[in-house]
Amino acid sequence: MKFLPAILVTLLMDRGSRGNLWMLLRFCTLLLAMMVLYTVLFHILMVWEGQDHSWISGMYWVVTTMTTLGFGDITFKSDIGRIYSIIVMFSGVFMLLVMLPFTFIEFLYAPWMKAQSNARAPREVSPHLRGHVIIVNHGPVAETLIEQLTGQQVPYVLIVPELPDALRMHDLGLSVLHGMVDDPHTYRNAGAERAALLATLGSELVNTNIAFTVREISEKVPIFATARSDTAEEVLRRAGETQVLRLGRMLGMGMARRTHGGDNLAHVVGSFGDLLVAEAAVHRTPLVGKTLRGARLREHLGVAIACVWERGKMQTAGPDTRIEEHTILVVIATRAQLDAWDETFCIYNANPDPVLVIGSGRVGRSAIRHLTTRRIAYRVIDTQPQRALDPAYMIEGDATDRAVLERAGIMQAPTVLITTHDDDTNIFLTILCRALRPDMQIISRVTRDRNVNTVDRAGADCVLSYASLGANAISNHLRHTNVLMLTEGLSLIRVKIPPELVGRTLKDSNVRAQTGCLVVAIDTPTGTQALPPPDQPLPADGDLLLVGDEDAENRFLVRYRPTERHTGAWKRTES
Ligand code: ADP
Repeated sequence: MKFLPAILVTLLMDRGSRGNLWMLLRFCTLLLAMMVLYTVLFHILMVWEGQDHSWISGMYWVVTTMTTLGFGDITFKSDIGRIYSIIVMFSGVFMLLVMLPFTFIEFLYAPWMKAQSNARAPREVSPHLRGHVIIVNHGPVAETLIEQLTGQQVPYVLIVPELPDALRMHDLGLSVLHGMVDDPHTYRNAGAERAALLATLGSELVNTNIAFTVREISEKVPIFATARSDTAEEVLRRAGETQVLRLGRMLGMGMARRTHGGDNLAHVVGSFGDLLVAEAAVHRTPLVGKTLRGARLREHLGVAIACVWERGKMQTAGPDTRIEEHTILVVIATRAQLDAWDETFCIYNANPDPVLVIGSGRVGRSAIRHLTTRRIAYRVIDTQPQRALDPAYMIEGDATDRAVLERAGIMQAPTVLITTHDDDTNIFLTILCRALRPDMQIISRVTRDRNVNTVDRAGADCVLSYASLGANAISNHLRHTNVLMLTEGLSLIRVKIPPELVGRTLKDSNVRAQTGCLVVAIDTPTGTQALPPPDQPLPADGDLLLVGDEDAENRFLVRYRPTERHTGAWKRTES
């Protein structure tokens, strides 16, 4: 019953429904006109037979005859009158017993049921809803983002332009809002001015339209929009406060950064003052097989390990974390310390053979550009040779064909990057490459999160998900409005040194073991001290710069209750 107004509105607003009601009205008018005509003819025939009846009796006779009730209290005596009765009776059967139910079902009941069903797709959010995320375009990124938001209990609303899709998703339990994506009313109805952010994840042309439409409603709401090209990025930025996500480029760079290639150099991903955050592979170095405590990197090189990437998943690092062949270390260090790192490890894993890149789409080309800046030689396989950045390094062919892989040098390559956008192809290629080369590094892309484990089991050393990359970029923004992200899942926070820690050393207080947060610097009025030695007492006046994931951060905040917490000026190298 609560849907009644919505149903009536749907019935009256929809052009098709209005047409149906009009047909029904026409049928009823025709029926009424027939009855009036039959009543008039009844009178003429009765007068001709010499009978006298009132107009009401005439109407009564027409209704009882047409409905085949025929009480028999008023009858014609003449043959003409009886033929007329038969005609009225048959036309009544046709109109009332056949046409009326049909017309009623076709033009009223069915549209009513449809309107009732359609009314289930909400057209506006509660006026009390605020701090929610508005998502436009349902795809792999939106799917993962919705999962994450649900886990974090952040309300969201997914705008769906097609009604059947909206109903289907509503029935699946998603929080949908039905409306046109280029209509300002949709964003007003979605409460855009009260939202925490809006993510538009469709094609760049549609995203641009949406970004500008939303700006009509709200100047402030942060907009995240996906884009493929530099031009689209530039245009989107004109919408103001728009964060442009170049997911293809980010994914390619992420894959290239995790490539051993022919070196084990550390690659800088961000900086804070003099401190750098870098990712470094350890393949074929003496570090493999040791724990972080056993590797003694702090003692030898002065660097700290913030976390590790294990098979494409970020994991917090502790003294007992074991370094595996394909582990990527996230290193916090000064420039001089990183140079020392590179000098120490560049002699290992020297493999001059080119890295193999399968697929030269956006992701493949971005990976190639990044490999080129790292001076890592590569070969690329693609079925479409015109997509090559440099035709000299292109091997034309289908990578699922073993002969093509061999021609491209799979048997010698240190690493293969599998970048096609089709998850099935990537799973197949991962299995094939692993079968051909059990010892090589395989980095694979997946578009949908649900395929991460399959590619992992297929033998990839590192799997990067397009959906997670986009969803993380957006949900991290929500979780860390006053914290900066270093790398996926890892952030930097600045807190006032808690009274409990003043005068104590990091070694005594065991901040890392107790909370999982790594102290990367102490900021005092006299300057910033990067990577303070573990046995140095903490001063009374100053800030601690901590690196940790969300859980570690929460543990620190609960355990030490710092009086102040703020953002550091963290500069992130694009990833
Ligand atoms: P994206 O832009 O997201 O990277 P694309 O579909 O544009 O995705 O690019 C994927 C590239 O991979 C295309 O150039 C396509 O020709 C190539 N590709 C797909 N399957 C194979 C395959 N089996 N062997 C070689 N190249 C492939």
